[in-house]
Formats: sequence, structure tokens, C-alpha cells
Amino acid sequence: MATIHIDSRELRVANIFCVARNYVAHAAEMGSSIGPEPVVFLKPTSALLPHGAPIPLPGWSSDIHHEAELVVAIGRDGRNIDRASAMSYVAGYALGLDLTARDVQRVAKQNGQPWTLSKGYAGSATLTAFVPAEALPRPGEVSFRLEIDGETRQHAEVGQMAFDIAALIAWISERFGLTEGDLIYTGTPEGVGSIHSGQQLRLVLDDLIDETLRVA
Ligand code: MG
Repeated sequence: MATIHIDSRELRVANIFCVARNYVAHAAEMGSSIGPEPVVFLKPTSALLPHGAPIPLPGWSSDIHHEAELVVAIGRDGRNIDRASAMSYVAGYALGLDLTARDVQRVAKQNGQPWTLSKGYAGSATLTAFVPAEALPRPGEVSFRLEIDGETRQHAEVGQMAFDIAALIAWISERFGLTEGDLIYTGTPEGVGSIHSGQQLRLVLDDLIDETLRVA
């Protein structure tokens, strides 16, 4: 059972929603663009890597990519949530990696198949510790970055998301419904690339989050 902790609160992880493209420059580097509505896919809860564990490199892929993302934890159930009240459903924030077997995803795209294996394999979703929503009253004004072995490889101004957090909560809650314990990986900025055994991946969000993971 996958659980997360936000201060003293324990939440059982329910659904893991991921936004496929939410920063213009990343959509462009993938040869794509951003449409009028979000593109959302799911990871199984078994994709979650235990907090702090080394990042696995599965033997059936030769190209695991990092995608650093802001992750939103949902604190209560909701359907048809409007933009105005959307942020009251947020329990907390973390950073995470939407790890992607890019070679496998490329074949799936070519064949019109789902991304489930390339995006949802065991260990493909990492999380830092969560900070409570109250600690981040204006998430649209923060930035985060991923460093690999001390070099910044991805940097995001959250305010540059095509669909902001309130818009994502409204859209997902209308189409799918939201459940206490749901996670939303809100999309990655440009700069995605391969990871390799032994690398140190450091995720930093302003002065609130600073955690390093090692690639196994
Ligand atoms: Mg992603």
C-alpha cells in the first residue's frame, strides 16, 4: 500500500494522474504542441518508488529519461470542482520524477499503443517529502530545478504552465473525479534526457524542498 505523509497526516495514494505536456518548450522538444485541453495519463500506484530508494534502471529499456515535475496531493474527494475552489482541495506539494522509458514510449507512439509500460513500470514515479499546502500559498510563483551530478538540467517557473494547478484540478475532477490521496504530476519543463547508473539527481524547490536520489 503506497502512502504519503503531509505533516502528521497520512494519505493512502489513490490515483496517479500525470499531465503529458504542460510547458511549451518541453512540448516543442518532443515534436509536439499544447492543445486546448490537458493530455492526461495514469501510472499505477505500484509505480511509486519508496521514498529515498535508489532509482532502478529496468533491463528492458536502454533509455530511461528524467522528467522533473511539481506533484500535487489531493486532500479530499471532489467532482466538477470549479476553478475558484480548486486550490482548497490541495493537501500538499512535492517534487517528483515521471521516469520514462523513452525508447519503449517511442515504439508505443509509432504503433498507437498506450504508454502504460513506458511510463508506469515499477519505480517510474519518485517523490520527495511533501510540504503542506499552507507552506506554498502561491505555487504559481515558485520555481524548481533538477540537478544531475551538480549541473542544472531542468528548470521550471511554475507560472509558465499552460494549464495551472487550479485548471488541472477542475478538468480532472470533471472528467475523472478526484479522490483523497490522488496525486497529480503536473508536467515537466524542457531539458529531459537520459539517466545513468551512479548519477545523483537533486530536486530543489525554492527553500522548501531539497532532496537527492541516486540512480542504482
Ligand atoms: Mg511527465
